[in-house]
Amino acid sequence: MAKISLEHIRHAYGPTPKSEKDYALKEVHHEWNDGGAYALLGPSGCGKTTLLNIISGLLRPSEGRILFDGLDVTNLSTQRRNIAQVFQFPVIYDTMTVYDNLAFPLRNRHVPEAEVDSRVREILEMIDLTGWAKRTARGLTADQKQKISLGRGLVRNDVNAILFDEPLTVIDPHMKWVLRSQLKRLHKQFGFTMVYVTHDQTEALTFADKVVVMYEGEIVQIGTPVELFERPSHTFVGYFIGSPGMNLLPAKVAGNTVTVGDQTITLAAVPNVGAASKVELGIRPEFVRLGREGMPVNIVKVEDIGRQKIVRARFEGHSVAIVVPEDSEIPAEARVTFEPTKINMYADSWRIGTGG
Ligand code: ADP
Ligand code: MG
Repeated sequence: MAKISLEHIRHAYGPTPKSEKDYALKEVHHEWNDGGAYALLGPSGCGKTTLLNIISGLLRPSEGRILFDGLDVTNLSTQRRNIAQVFQFPVIYDTMTVYDNLAFPLRNRHVPEAEVDSRVREILEMIDLTGWAKRTARGLTADQKQKISLGRGLVRNDVNAILFDEPLTVIDPHMKWVLRSQLKRLHKQFGFTMVYVTHDQTEALTFADKVVVMYEGEIVQIGTPVELFERPSHTFVGYFIGSPGMNLLPAKVAGNTVTVGDQTITLAAVPNVGAASKVELGIRPEFVRLGREGMPVNIVKVEDIGRQKIVRARFEGHSVAIVVPEDSEIPAEARVTFEPTKINMYADSWRIGTGG
């Protein structure tokens, strides 16, 4: 296992990048702890695969260095970096049996056959293919093939890190959940450094200790699920994490008061908006209180989502979502208050401070 240091990494696919927008990865400068479980989360096209391939050595960055435990590996091949990578679609040998596919990475490294056998059996059990061990991979379903691919990534226990690039895309929902729990268990048991790419927040938040949120070629926040929920560093994180996402309201700040339309809210501290051209107040739907006190809202729609209701309302000309318990009464002349300690203020999309 290794600590991974990414030093001022930038990447452009074209030969002569001229401006920021020519870079698929802008500036990535961070250290990932040995034995950490990280999820790389972001929408399609934000640079997740690019970053993962740079870590594994499939891709050489245009600028910057990668270090494993302080050793510069920027110019080393994937093999020399001693990394296992699982891709979105199966990479297996069709003519080999399921067993031999799983044994391959071990035999390749001259692991004694008795150890190969015990590891392969363990993995077969984990991916639920014990009964298929002797079958050739050719006739298997896409789902089964992907499980073999995943198993091949997990079979060695001497790797520096295991990288997963949306590995469960073709797996059915129930099995997805089972495999994700297994990965988490393996992580706890062996302490592999794991990097798991996904565009699905549930997947990221359940798998990782630290979630790395990417947006337009940049890491906008690295944090625990709770940090991403309570203190989104960037409005994109507020919007992307949570369902519904954070409410963002155009605001004006004067001292410790913030004005949205005709309403004024007092903050616990003075936010430093500097010379920002766009100031926004962020409040999660879970922290908007609905009742007879506070600022007036017009309710547009109420959606029942099981144990909770999502109330869609208009507040000072803006859409606002409010999450309330299933049994709560919705007053005719509804009013709202924002939980003061849960307010986040943003200047040009970056978080500057809060009410608490
Ligand atoms: P993600 O995995 O988050 O969906 P990618 O890392 O695949 O994103 O892509 C990031 C950006 O780089 C996208 O704009 C994509 O079109 C571009 N890109 C990815 N691979 C290549 C490539 N081989 N050649 C040129 N552009 C690429
Ligand atoms: Mg990708």
